Amino acid sequence: MLSSNGQIPAGMGMHRVPDFPEDPEGELETIKKNRKAPSPAGRLWRSRLAPQAIICGGVFVALVMVLLCATVMYQGRLDAMDRARETSRNLVLIAERDIERNFELYALSLQAVVDGMGDPHVLALPPPLRRQVLFDRATTAKYLGSMLVIDASGDIVIDSASDVPRPGNFSDRPYFAVQRDNPDVGLYVSEPFRSRLRNGSPSIALTRRLSNPDGSFAGIALIAINLEYFHTLFAGLSLGPNGAVALISQNGIMIMRQPYDVRTIGRDISKASTFRNFVAEKESSFSDTATIDGVRRLYTAKNFPDLPLIIMVAVAEQDIYAAWRRRATTIGSLMVAFALGFVGLSFLLGAQLRHRMRAESELELLARTDGLTGLNNRRTLGEILDQEWRRARRTRSMFSLLFIDIDRFKAYNDTYGHQAGDDALTAVARCIGENIRRPADSAARYGGEEFVVVLPDTPAAGAARIAEKIRAAISELAIEHAGSEYGRVTASIGTASWAPEADSDVTGVIKAADEALYNAKATGRNKVSPFLPA
Ligand code: GH3
Ligand code: MG
Ligand code: MG
Repeated sequence: MLSSNGQIPAGMGMHRVPDFPEDPEGELETIKKNRKAPSPAGRLWRSRLAPQAIICGGVFVALVMVLLCATVMYQGRLDAMDRARETSRNLVLIAERDIERNFELYALSLQAVVDGMGDPHVLALPPPLRRQVLFDRATTAKYLGSMLVIDASGDIVIDSASDVPRPGNFSDRPYFAVQRDNPDVGLYVSEPFRSRLRNGSPSIALTRRLSNPDGSFAGIALIAINLEYFHTLFAGLSLGPNGAVALISQNGIMIMRQPYDVRTIGRDISKASTFRNFVAEKESSFSDTATIDGVRRLYTAKNFPDLPLIIMVAVAEQDIYAAWRRRATTIGSLMVAFALGFVGLSFLLGAQLRHRMRAESELELLARTDGLTGLNNRRTLGEILDQEWRRARRTRSMFSLLFIDIDRFKAYNDTYGHQAGDDALTAVARCIGENIRRPADSAARYGGEEFVVVLPDTPAAGAARIAEKIRAAISELAIEHAGSEYGRVTASIGTASWAPEADSDVTGVIKAADEALYNAKATGRNKVSPFLPA
């Protein structure tokens, strides 16, 4: 039964012919040309959107991977900077503590000299003993240049190095003038100078003022520190190939710098923008580009709490990021290559899927259509009939069917040959397809030279009108047919219209249309006959 399994009952149609072998060449083209309905939305989704979704999904996943990787890389870069900042701060602290501790010892020794000079008992001692008492053993310290007591006129009176003071006048030295002119200076850290007593070796001096009992200037006590001390201290710090560490006085005079260049010692850098940052805060950490070499560095500086000194560590950003950059380049390029591969793969997959889906839908189309005419085949007709019949039953609408049969077609084949017969069949099929316009209408090749048109929701009058239109159109094709009484290819059409009852099935309508077709044939062909119930 058609209603249950979509099969058309056998034995229908008046002019049964055996199935002809069909030429598959150009089949799809004919199908597509003769098919009435466009591709349904589902097919569009499967053939176009699904492959696109795969490609978009692939690109999206690749983008997310690259983005994640970039985020991790960026975080790594920030971490590298944080670590460098931390390391610089630690270096600054270590250097500062070392210098501070030494200076504290020197300052204590200096204070001992000042105190001793105020003690008449000490002054009364013989020179060798007095030297020992005043200078203790501080003079043996590694980087200590000399310890001197200088009188108000700038001459050495007591020398740590010998009982007979070495000759020399220091009244021209700034550290002397400062103590002479300002009674309240206290411990003074001098700017770098070349020592006159030690073959011009670069030094700085710590000085304190000596006063007479009435408070007037009596001279100074002095400790000279060899700059070699800072040089050795800084040389041990690891700052990368482009890094620097420097000790600067608070008024901008360079005391020591690593990498060492003798010309930088004593240079005034108070005008440099970096130096202004150093003095602005007790501790500072900032990035700046050096005007000398155009290298961007991370500067970390600290002002000594009790000394007029600043310690500064600078690390070049290119050194900070060197390891990170190597890693980022490797992982980043691997990631980009991987992402590109992934995108390429999704494109390939999308194309493959599109190709397969196209093949699938073409196969499906082939399975549903008649190869020669491109109209629905018998199997599809069965499905359509079943579906439309049930719909008509549900909506209680009129359901019409046309049964079309080409007149004297056997004679046509005999006269013009099989190939011409096929061409005529195709032309008639196209003609039928073109004359049914409503979306629900459909045409099928029933077999041989017979066609069925299903017209849902169409009453008898409408069916008759469409049938007449088709009949006239086939006749107007004007395909020569010498064996026909009309001299051209014509068709007879039987129509049947039914309002489905609750328990009826479609077989009755088909039978009725077939009967009507018989009537058309019997009453002269090339005409439309409606089914007239007895
Ligand atoms: P009538 O007017 O009574 O319908 O006469 P008829 O010759 O058309 O009827 P009949 O059913 O006896 O012959 C049908 C012929 O249609 C048989 C065959 O030669 C031809 N035919 C059927 N299918 C095909 C086909 O696929 N290709 C071609 N070329 N001819 C076909
Ligand atoms: Mg026939
Ligand atoms: Mg026929």
